[in-house]
Amino acid sequence: MLKPSYPLYLAGQPLETGRRLPVTDKYSGAIATEVALADRTLVEQAIAHAAAATRPMAELPAYARQAVLEHCVQRFQQRADELAMALCIEAGKPIRDARGEVTRLIDTFKYAAGEAVRLTGDYLPLDISARAHGYWSVIQRVPVGPCAFISPFNFPLNLAAHKIAPAIAAGCPFVLKPASSTPVGALLIGEILAETALPAGAFSILPCAPADAEPMIRDARIKLLSFTGSPAVGWDIKARAGHKQVILELGGNAACIVDADADLDDAVQRLIFGAFYQSGQSCISVQRILAHRSIYAALRERLVAATRSLVCGDPRDERTFVGPLIAEREAIRLAEWIEAAIARGARLLCGGERHGALMTPALLENVPRDCELYACEAFGPVALLAPFDDFEAALDEVNDSRYGLQAGVFTRDLHKARRAWNRLEVGGVVIGDVPSFRVDHMPYGGVKESGLGREGVAWAIEHLTEPRIMVVRTP
Ligand code: NAD
Repeated sequence: MLKPSYPLYLAGQPLETGRRLPVTDKYSGAIATEVALADRTLVEQAIAHAAAATRPMAELPAYARQAVLEHCVQRFQQRADELAMALCIEAGKPIRDARGEVTRLIDTFKYAAGEAVRLTGDYLPLDISARAHGYWSVIQRVPVGPCAFISPFNFPLNLAAHKIAPAIAAGCPFVLKPASSTPVGALLIGEILAETALPAGAFSILPCAPADAEPMIRDARIKLLSFTGSPAVGWDIKARAGHKQVILELGGNAACIVDADADLDDAVQRLIFGAFYQSGQSCISVQRILAHRSIYAALRERLVAATRSLVCGDPRDERTFVGPLIAEREAIRLAEWIEAAIARGARLLCGGERHGALMTPALLENVPRDCELYACEAFGPVALLAPFDDFEAALDEVNDSRYGLQAGVFTRDLHKARRAWNRLEVGGVVIGDVPSFRVDHMPYGGVKESGLGREGVAWAIEHLTEPRIMVVRTP
């Protein structure tokens, strides 16, 4: 169960404000709890505290940064059930997926605890020409300084963790704004961080209206802005961010190729998971399935049967696979996209029935390429099937997208796997599984409209630190 209310965290301290943000149970629609809401003045104060904490954070020894992260790991393990239930309620996430996210949260912090003591430097001899005779250098990585983080609703714990844990490992103070529909997860991380010996001002976690987050985007004291969310908001934010470094982890319409030699039963199980877990509300959810024509009919038949067998409903129920979308308006939008595609000749194979915010998982075929359902990010429980004859043409079709996060390829042919890896315009290619596969220390991020830069703890630390060289002349 959730507590009746949660404070925000300003400069590492819990704070109640006069304003409250209600948080609904996404399945019942009832108000489940309230959180303290920050305004623009508090956001500005948090940035000032983060700026003042720049040196203390940078000077925090590696063993102390590691100890903070290890404390979090231990507390997440102790409070795992409570964390999972919070996700289940505030995000409508089926309880099994919620437990999976808590496991990933723990992994992300564990890995960051290791990285905190692995930040090393380099020795660089400089005497490549007579001009530099007698010179040598050493290079260390130094933290970039105060960071602003904005996180989305769909993984309230682990996507906040992908910003917070590397920042602590790197020695950067930060201000984080969680999604307004799911602020509790990040505030629970804040509660645990407040138990640690982080320097005063090192972290603030501030639920606030998007407009009040403006100083996080524009303030020049912020050296790195990392945003995870929708492409429209992300690219707009980047345009307003001034000179700071910007990392964007955005959405896509991920594709998966199923070649003629695939094990169909195995592929079907994985495709069902990739397309419909968390009701398709994952940035690497399988949206487009391209199947070789020789197996197309057999795959379609098995996919339809497997999709129909999925249990939809109450996310607290252990059997539930597909819970509600984050809001009824998202289910209505998706239903409209499906209708529009059908009006243009698409065939609905199963699902697509809406009950409030719930939608039964839908499969369609023959969807025109310029329909929203195909060309945009569906972010819901829907997958589209299309046949292909030629593997190279299928690769072209995967690339025929504004987005490029990850792609999956079921093939047993090493040559084709390599062709896919070389030719697909994405941040990651998954062979033998769906694009939805992610482990938290992988480099993760997109190309084209799907983003800029990479997360995955060590890769995030690359952005959060910069090389500083010391040149030495030996007289
Ligand atoms: P969203 O863009 O609506 O919101 C993301 C965050 O930005 C929230 O905290 C929101 O309050 C804030 N925000 C919105 N407008 C803002 C503004 N003008 N100024 C400042 N902050 C603003 O996204 P969402 O609906 O929460 O999440 C879904 C999207 O996130 C999907 O597109 C999904 O693909 C993407 N996503 C990407 C990744 C990734 O790692 N690439 C992971 C998860 C989700």
